[in-house]
Amino acid sequence: MIAVVGGGPAGCIAARYCAKEHETVLFETQKKESRRVQCSGLLSKSGLHRLGINPRSDSAKAFIQNSVRGAKIYSPLGSLLEIDGGMDKAYVTDRKAFDNHLLDKATDAGAELQNNTIDKKNLGELKSKADKIILATGTNYNLHKALNINAPCEFLYGAQYEMKIECESDYVEMYLDVPGFFSWIIPVDDYARIGLCAPDNPVPYLEEHIKRLRKEKRIKEPAIREKNYGVIPMYNPGLRTEYPKVSLAGDAAGQVKATTGGGVIIGGLAAKNAGIEGYEKIWKKEIGKELYLHLRVRRFLNNLSEKNADKLIRLLAENKDLIEKKGDMDMASHLLNGFLGRPSFMARFILQAPSHLLDQL
Ligand SMILES: Cc1cc2nc3c(=O)[nH]c(=O)nc-3n(C[C@H](O)[C@H](O)[C@H](O)COP(=O)(O)OP(=O)(O)OC[C@H]3O[C@@H](n4cnc5c(N)ncnc54)[C@H](O)[C@@H]3O)c2cc1C
Repeated sequence: MIAVVGGGPAGCIAARYCAKEHETVLFETQKKESRRVQCSGLLSKSGLHRLGINPRSDSAKAFIQNSVRGAKIYSPLGSLLEIDGGMDKAYVTDRKAFDNHLLDKATDAGAELQNNTIDKKNLGELKSKADKIILATGTNYNLHKALNINAPCEFLYGAQYEMKIECESDYVEMYLDVPGFFSWIIPVDDYARIGLCAPDNPVPYLEEHIKRLRKEKRIKEPAIREKNYGVIPMYNPGLRTEYPKVSLAGDAAGQVKATTGGGVIIGGLAAKNAGIEGYEKIWKKEIGKELYLHLRVRRFLNNLSEKNADKLIRLLAENKDLIEKKGDMDMASHLLNGFLGRPSFMARFILQAPSHLLDQL
């Protein structure tokens, strides 16, 4: 029997694939109706397809809230990079409904759902019954500790409010105005998700971000529909994710893009193989390089001064045709290879970037 602990996207996807060949039990603390998630729900169209989910299907209507075609990215000094994908590039999803959709797919494939929490007390019994345990417990690392296995150890902290504000319904906005990350506005319906991540308490930064929107007279109603807080693990390429009887998937394995904090697609892609012998080799072959590139880009961005971040945004704006053509929200290599193949961009980039930062790429 394969036991999957955690029924978020990673656990549901792992359980669905395991159930095709093995008796599979999926343990999830939360009930379907009252599930709470911390997420902006922005998922790339290509990523959904990679997970075998057709966002235009009837069943997807339950969780797709909006579609976006582009992004407006502002440097700390206000320069704008506007990317227009020309068509739907990403979807804003209701994560509760999305997770429940994935849960239905897992149980339809034959996985048995048990609404139970696995803790130190019942872990021993589970270990004796299961041939393999897949930990997909998100950022709850208690079972890692109980099993004496390493967990991610570097984190970002996210905060997000849902409010009615003026914004374009098919563009997300990103502001490089938070140390070590960015703030975002994601249009949903007649409201938007306004949030950010930071290496420490994110709330003061979010209050500042909202204050600025108020000054710009973009807040339509001061009431906050919902407040959301969560933790995002930083990808650690050295973290072991496969043991003789235990595998880690999703946030439990730190499978998160360090550039954006997005973990649903990339964690889901890894989780497909979490029940297979040699899982770590398989997922690293498919997405290990991508996660590593996201990490290097994040480190590079974190060390840019405001002035250099502004220069970079202006240089990217001059080359936005390439971003529009090659950009992929999940696979960083597609765009980076595109830049490497454009000598005019590379020459300006190398001339502009301080050499100690180039060493980090
Ligand atoms: C503010 C914020 C915004 C974000 N926005 C995005 C975004 O726009 N796009 C994106 O791709 N990612 C986003 N993320 C990241 C994304 O939410 C995570 O990467 C994703 O949820 C990871 O999925 P998972 O299945 O690994 O873990 P989770 O979704 O956390 O699921 C883990 C599940 O395990 C259950 N569980 C935990 N412990 C136990 C236990 N011991 N026994 C039984 N059940 C247990 C929990 O109840 C939970 O349902 C965001 C994160 C934050 C904090």
